[in-house]
Amino acid sequence: MNVEIVTIGDELLLGFTIDTNAAHLARQLAAIGVQITRRQTCGDSASEIASAVREALDRTGAVITTGGLGPTSDDMTKESIAAIFGRAMERHEAIIDALKARWKSWGRSGELPLSNYQQAMIPAGARILNNGHGTAPGIWLEDARGRWVAMLPGVPREMRGMLADELLPLVRARVTGEPQVVVSRTLRTTGVGESAIADQLGLLAKSPEGVSLSYLPGWEGVDLRLTSRGRNAADATAALERAGSALLQIVGPATYGEGDTDLAAVVLAALREQGLMLAVAESCTGGLLGERLTAIPGSSDVMLGGVIAYANGIKERLLYVDAEVLRQNGAVSEAVAREMAAGAARATAADVAISITGIAGPGGGSAEKPVGTVCFGLFVQGRIRSTRAVMIGDRDEIRRRAAQAALNLLRRALLEPAETDVSRIP
Ligand code: AMP
Ligand code: MG
Repeated sequence: MNVEIVTIGDELLLGFTIDTNAAHLARQLAAIGVQITRRQTCGDSASEIASAVREALDRTGAVITTGGLGPTSDDMTKESIAAIFGRAMERHEAIIDALKARWKSWGRSGELPLSNYQQAMIPAGARILNNGHGTAPGIWLEDARGRWVAMLPGVPREMRGMLADELLPLVRARVTGEPQVVVSRTLRTTGVGESAIADQLGLLAKSPEGVSLSYLPGWEGVDLRLTSRGRNAADATAALERAGSALLQIVGPATYGEGDTDLAAVVLAALREQGLMLAVAESCTGGLLGERLTAIPGSSDVMLGGVIAYANGIKERLLYVDAEVLRQNGAVSEAVAREMAAGAARATAADVAISITGIAGPGGGSAEKPVGTVCFGLFVQGRIRSTRAVMIGDRDEIRRRAAQAALNLLRRALLEPAETDVSRIP
């Protein structure tokens, strides 16, 4: 079954509100085998709503709208869609009674505002979708040919509740034959750019067995989402499994997990498994790495702590960095990063220590060390290594990417000690 979505509201068009309703609807409907084939957004204008819904109905005969069901003058969804179906508006006393009861139960004084009476106006012959989470009822309107429009409120919490309680069961009942499911699987990679991944994947990226591949790059790395659709659940899942295995064969070393796995959790688990304690030494990230690690519940059994060594004096006094090494190489250098990691291990008696020192910008860059240059030192049970990379983005992104790269260095050192090529990080 194909469905179109029309989200309604000037605030969406103007960009003040992000259209989360359409995304939520798409995910929920996909799970019951319904495809969203098109999304439209229109403002609070009766003619815009009518033309958007009419066109969508002509294409699919099945439309879901959100927004414009409230009691105020900018809410005109019902009237404009009723007109498409040639229906008059009728007042439902039961809705008014329910609104009055709700008004009382909220402890409001006085009478129900007159504006609310507008919410009891329902197109003739419509089915009412109860709103257990707010005042505006939803509406299901259907014509003799079985073409339908479901109207949901705009407030995301109300929309989600009504979708789950009222609309999904109605739609599910209309999905005939074997449900056509959409299943997805996301591999999380880091340390390799999306174009490098695309080159590695080559032909595999060309839709193996109808499974599509999306590249989702961000500061954490590139998520690779495989989506398998348009078949029964068993076939879709099997095709997804095969595509996932083929993908893993190629991008395996860059993959740190699936779904919403956090790289910090992967690193902590590896340390725990190997019985190693960790310390960090951070300059340009100012504690971000420590934050990432300690945000994971249970981190205290492997995370000892760290030093935010922003000033050179702190690098010298708390991390035992040699003043001469600092002077000769500058604070952003592999030599200093190595000393910082060793110093953090010495200061805390950790088995493993990682350091970050870099230029987060916007100022402070040079031809030799441009903004984004970050050096990392890694101490693992007496062995010290270092590497250097240039991060892209603004100050915020450079710092976040640096913390993520440090976690990836730890991951690779712990999980692939023999293969770790510390020169290949983002
Ligand atoms: P409405 O039902 O049009 O009165 O919308 C009420 C509120 O819900 C608006 O002020 C928005 O903040 C929010 N809203 C409406 N449509 C959406 C949407 N598509 N995605 C997220 N929020 C929305
Ligand atoms: Mg609105």
